[in-house]
Amino acid sequence: MADFEPLVIESAEGCWLTTTDGKRLFDGVSSLWCNVHGHRHPKIDAAVADQLKRVAHITTLGMSADVTDQLAEKLAEITPGELSHIFFSSDGSSSVEAAMKMAFQYWQQKTNPCPNKTKFLALGSAYHGDTTGSVSLGGIKYFHQLFAPILFEPVRGPIPCSYRLPDSVSSEDAANHYATEIESLLQQHHGSIAAIVMEPLVQGAAGMITHPVGLLKMIRDLCDRYDVLLICDEVAVGFGRTGKLFACEHESVVPDILCMGKGLTAGYLPMAATIARPHVYEAFLADIADSKQFFHGHTFGGNPLAAAAAIASIDLFETTDILQQVDAKATYLRDRLRPLADHPNVGDIRGRGLMVGIEMIADQSTREPFDSSMLIGKKICDAALDQGVWIRPLTDVIVAMPPLCSTESELDFLADAIIDSIEQVVPNEVCS
Ligand code: PMP
Repeated sequence: MADFEPLVIESAEGCWLTTTDGKRLFDGVSSLWCNVHGHRHPKIDAAVADQLKRVAHITTLGMSADVTDQLAEKLAEITPGELSHIFFSSDGSSSVEAAMKMAFQYWQQKTNPCPNKTKFLALGSAYHGDTTGSVSLGGIKYFHQLFAPILFEPVRGPIPCSYRLPDSVSSEDAANHYATEIESLLQQHHGSIAAIVMEPLVQGAAGMITHPVGLLKMIRDLCDRYDVLLICDEVAVGFGRTGKLFACEHESVVPDILCMGKGLTAGYLPMAATIARPHVYEAFLADIADSKQFFHGHTFGGNPLAAAAAIASIDLFETTDILQQVDAKATYLRDRLRPLADHPNVGDIRGRGLMVGIEMIADQSTREPFDSSMLIGKKICDAALDQGVWIRPLTDVIVAMPPLCSTESELDFLADAIIDSIEQVVPNEVCS
């Protein structure tokens, strides 16, 4: 496949994409991690078509659509704890922007305000979107560094990567180690941090960086002790990806604000949401002059067609065993990928649930990456494409995020293509 030959999709069904020249491709990354139920699910198709007969778009500034209200109620019901007040936007970056502004405004105008709480603590290698505020939180050089002159600086936390622990830290101590680092930053910036913003469990775009178990809970406790809000960005990990509807449920954590996008509409239409706990919302209750309002609104926020798709998708989670099957499918996929563990250039196979990252490295003993000019990740994904699988690399981390509805034989197809492509690009005997 030539380097810049565009891949044009004509149709899709289930886990498969069909190009205009008739090639069938397995959608190994759920169309950028969104299409949790695959493509053209009859129930979601029908819900969107039905909604189209009623109303496609209205503004949700000053009015609302019945279907959007129903979705808001549903989201309050299915998100953890007392998360209950919802702000709709159109994409994940905007849901993070909204969360940041909410957190800032919360401290400015709550009862007993804390006007000095204006900073955000973000993890190392963080990725929270491509708008300027979310890029400010970002810590991935390749994506974010160029924009430094127009960004604000967050307080930068550690990269809590289980694969690259400092030599002195055992895996049992890893969560504690990173929590201690974060605590010392909270002490250093005492009274000035509005919120910690983080992806719970797995930092997707950073290369499927997988956090030590228990870290999220420790960070929640730190936020409580240091009076800092916790914003969980579940744009990538939400909607079943990790085996629970929301990743923070794995550690029984309820953030103060949770951001969701991607899987919210099962990839059907652009919609995202920022959902807050009542204590956050209450700081915005309008006084007589209305000056406490959240002055932030997107034209397409709460779009009725998108809301109809989201309700149908959530309904599938509630009426089928798709969520209950994620763990078994994840185990199956990992078992199928197991031969890679012996490959001298496969450093780590990580992730949670059906969110898998395979990190290619030049040297096992030092965990040194390949020279970036070698484009190892890209070459492996190009090879997979030739075998009928669409996957995308994050530098040299090969990402597999198949639709949650993938069957075992589809997971076989995906795993075989990944293994063959790795062996084709980095043959065992050459790079050991
Ligand atoms: N947060 C996370 C964790 C993401 O992975 C992404 C997108 N990959 C975003 C935010 C931004 O979402 P969007 O691309 O819909 O703006």
